Amino acid sequence: MSELSLQISLMIFEAAFAAAVLLALFSARRVLGLASIYTTVGVFYYLATLLAGTTFVKVAPGLLLSPGSVALFPACLFAVLLVYIREDAKEARSMIYGLLAANVTASLLGLAVVQHLRGPLAVNPLGLPPELFVQSPRLFVVGTLALFADTILIILVYEAVSRVLRPLLLRIWTSLALVLVFDTLLFVTGGFIEHPAYFEILLSGILGKIAAAAVYAVALTLYLPRAGADEDAHASLGDLFHVLTYRQKFEALRAQAARDPLTGVYNRGFCDELLNSQIASARRSGAAVAVMMVDVDHFKWINDTHGHAEGDRALRVIAQALAGVVRASDVVCRYGGEEFCLILPGTLLDSATLLAGRICEEVPAACARENVAGGARITVTIGVAAYPGDGVNAGALIRAADQRLYRGKHAGRDRFVAA
Ligand code: GH3
Ligand code: MG
Ligand code: MG
Repeated sequence: MSELSLQISLMIFEAAFAAAVLLALFSARRVLGLASIYTTVGVFYYLATLLAGTTFVKVAPGLLLSPGSVALFPACLFAVLLVYIREDAKEARSMIYGLLAANVTASLLGLAVVQHLRGPLAVNPLGLPPELFVQSPRLFVVGTLALFADTILIILVYEAVSRVLRPLLLRIWTSLALVLVFDTLLFVTGGFIEHPAYFEILLSGILGKIAAAAVYAVALTLYLPRAGADEDAHASLGDLFHVLTYRQKFEALRAQAARDPLTGVYNRGFCDELLNSQIASARRSGAAVAVMMVDVDHFKWINDTHGHAEGDRALRVIAQALAGVVRASDVVCRYGGEEFCLILPGTLLDSATLLAGRICEEVPAACARENVAGGARITVTIGVAAYPGDGVNAGALIRAADQRLYRGKHAGRDRFVAA
């Protein structure tokens, strides 16, 4: 093995080893607690800083890699990301504070330690240079700010990247690489801009860290889906490619809580909340909001004749038909048993009435396509009302639509009433 490949293999080993240790400690966290990870990360961080200022390997002309900043520093961001994805933001925040505290403490204690080495009574058998323990105030400030920014950015960038990239490996690698490149730009520019080798230091740091990010990303990608399958009762094959962070899980849960489990459209609680907020913003902007109450005609007959399960299927088909016919900004909710409420932001009564006409045609057509209730003609009756003409708050608007709906029922069903 050539000396160059030995040096590079060593750095890959260091990164892989750091990642493996953190992952092993993390998977034993139910027994060991998270403190074991935090202390280990603190050690990695200190070692990374020490090496970054003292130890470099010349891998090519003009390309100097420090095992500290390339192989070990990314371990800190890796740990923050791991804890954020599999635990929660609160734990990740503890780690960020811990790292900052360790950084400040090591720098301040360094000032005291150096007095031992410089004093007349010093015995220094290894001949260590005192500079090893003192950072220039400038490097200290730049390093601390960069560390603080990095640990927060890694979470923000991961969330943002996850919205565009689906493969887990790419998501983790891109996030780590972006933040590490940002860190290198900030740290090298803040610390070495007037250095004659500024560009070499910058380029080496960027290339080395992008490569190291790949090692960490592979380790995390191998670990996360398996960890997810072990820990989540409802892990599915999809989770192999889509590991959710605590925030994504929270949002998914919240979205689920707003849904009607039978039909998948929004539920009544969401409907009331949304209508109130839409009317409040329409009041500020002077826009219109229309609502539609849609009730299935003779629904009891479907239940009684074809059974409750067929009634349920009818509700699902009708809900899908409603959702398919409205615009993306409109919201379909199941308001009660076989009654749906549609909220149409920015829509005047006239255009809502046109849509009601289309719904009266589309619901029977969709039910016929799906052969609901043995192919019987399933119809709906609709009451339409709009803010501000028919009511200036959510309750009044729904009441107006309901009254029109009941007029439609009395007039013979299968129709819409808008005035
Ligand atoms: P109308 O044309 O006057 O609206 O007649 P209708 O039979 O639709 O009216 P009614 O309100 O009397 O009946 C609604 C029925 O819907 C009663 C209830 O048993 C049924 N229902 C309510 N929720 C569900 C559900 O989730 N699944 C099923 N299958 N039926 C439901
Ligand atoms: Mg009905
Ligand atoms: Mg009803």
